[in-house]
Amino acid sequence: MEKVIKAYGYIRISTDNQDFERQKVLIKSHCKKHNYELIDIIGQQVSGKKEDTESIQSLRSLTKNDCDIIVVTEISRLSRTDKVTYTINLLSDLIEEKQINVVFTDNPEKIYDTRLNEYELIQIIFEASGAAKERNKITYRMKTGMDAKFTLDPNAFRGSIVPIGFKVINNDKYNEEDGKQYSKKLLVPDETKIPIVELIFNSIIKGTTLHDVAKLLNESGYITSKGKRFRSSSVGDIVKNQLYNGKMKRNNHIYDLPFKIIDDKLFQLANTKLTENQLFKDKGNKNFNQLKGIFVCPCGKNMMLKRSLDYYVYTCVTKANKYRHNGKCNNKGIDADILTELVWNVMSLSLEERRYRENNDKRIKEIKYTIDLNLSKISSLENEISELKKQNEILTNRIANLNPESESLLSGLIKVYDEREGSIKEKEEYISNLQNQNRKSESEMNKILNSSKEQFFNNIKPSERAKLFKTYLKSVSYYDVTQYKGFIHIIFQNEYTRIVAVKKYPRPFYSLLPDHFKFNIDTRSITYPHLNNKPKSDRSLLYSFGSSTVSFEKMEKSFYDLYTEWKLDIKLPERSKIKKVRAENNLKAKMKYKKL
Ligand SMILES: [Zn+2]
Repeated sequence: MEKVIKAYGYIRISTDNQDFERQKVLIKSHCKKHNYELIDIIGQQVSGKKEDTESIQSLRSLTKNDCDIIVVTEISRLSRTDKVTYTINLLSDLIEEKQINVVFTDNPEKIYDTRLNEYELIQIIFEASGAAKERNKITYRMKTGMDAKFTLDPNAFRGSIVPIGFKVINNDKYNEEDGKQYSKKLLVPDETKIPIVELIFNSIIKGTTLHDVAKLLNESGYITSKGKRFRSSSVGDIVKNQLYNGKMKRNNHIYDLPFKIIDDKLFQLANTKLTENQLFKDKGNKNFNQLKGIFVCPCGKNMMLKRSLDYYVYTCVTKANKYRHNGKCNNKGIDADILTELVWNVMSLSLEERRYRENNDKRIKEIKYTIDLNLSKISSLENEISELKKQNEILTNRIANLNPESESLLSGLIKVYDEREGSIKEKEEYISNLQNQNRKSESEMNKILNSSKEQFFNNIKPSERAKLFKTYLKSVSYYDVTQYKGFIHIIFQNEYTRIVAVKKYPRPFYSLLPDHFKFNIDTRSITYPHLNNKPKSDRSLLYSFGSSTVSFEKMEKSFYDLYTEWKLDIKLPERSKIKKVRAENNLKAKMKYKKL
């Protein structure tokens, strides 16, 4: 027959009732988990700052006949934190003299059962002196107070709102005497409401928008867990809630519930679909912002879509709310259909350009250089860290061999130790930053490497276009020159840059300038290279190069190509409404004129 392990719990005095109860729960559940027979718990609740000498005496008087192990929640509970040497003596007395094992529930794997070795001694000094870890301990204490119940029952219920698809029942294991460590209430699936949850997930998977799912639920007479009408956001929250996939998140810890209303595959599918739908809201609608986050105004603010009857115009956000943005900016807007068509055309034309590919190579070289630089920084930081660790190891040995009486020297050494630990932590954080940077760089590099493989279709959906815009483009801006003309400045991910000259009136053109033309943001002019001298004879190779800077007007006069070679063909959707309104306005104006 297996020998029953007898245990005593020890709680150090506490003025806080909740903390006292919490220590009790932790000790009980530890004994239960390890099949210890818990004989008794020593320690009582005492008010004031008095030391509970009575309990310490009872602890010291225990013998091997009374118990095999003593269970305490943390080392610092063994005695006051300013009595480090006392703690060590007490502990070594228990394990060495009396041969009673000791375990702390915050480190349940480690059972103190033989002579303390140097390493353990140091650990205890740090733990017992508290200082360095006090902060961690406090948060640990706060967490475990709540966690205890969730560890016993992952579906323990606290709170007031029951999520849709669930109901709350009483916990059979809970009772007023020894069942208090259990939660009073449990969260379980409500069979009658599960079809609503399934309806939501299945609709999202089918591609129904959040808005339409909410509408469907409201029309079917369902209400939210808060007793309200469904909205897009409440439906979205349900699809994202891991509770439906059998996971409960508490204090950064995920507990597995004994049931799953939605299985892994469906849950994953619905969430993928949801992210896609949110990225490309109003998928069916041609007029959603395909250049979101890419199209920026020269003033630095974003450009947003503004409706104008049956078409949309991109305009600077400062124009929507001049107060919030400290005044309007002066840059003119541009027709959204024209702009997206132009950018799309420029993109598909540019990807095959030699210079675009050269820029790719150049950018990849730059990225590789930064990655290598970061790697070498990381390796030197790692050397520094290992050196600091070595020094602290030596220090640890010094502390271990220190005369127990030299408390002041001890605290000095601990300070040095802590400082080194701090510096190690800082360096480790820096390394993780560099590693993050490298991950980003690698993903940018992958984007560039994969981008040239992409196929372009003429009948591509707006949502897919938006995806490709994001893949290839860093930014797009429209710089007006007058109300009717300006430049679109397109910067690709690899820094390759294109300029489109736009003239809306009276003889419109949208022309993609050659990629060796440069745009000057400040003067809104164009600089282009050209030959200065023509060769004097056919044999002569005396070319010399120069460059000229021209305004929009001058460029128009100099380049016939704007209307021919460089012109982009843009197809625009039919705009019957605006045509009708304009025709009506013209008619009204004519009538007025006639009357006069
Ligand atoms: Zn602006």
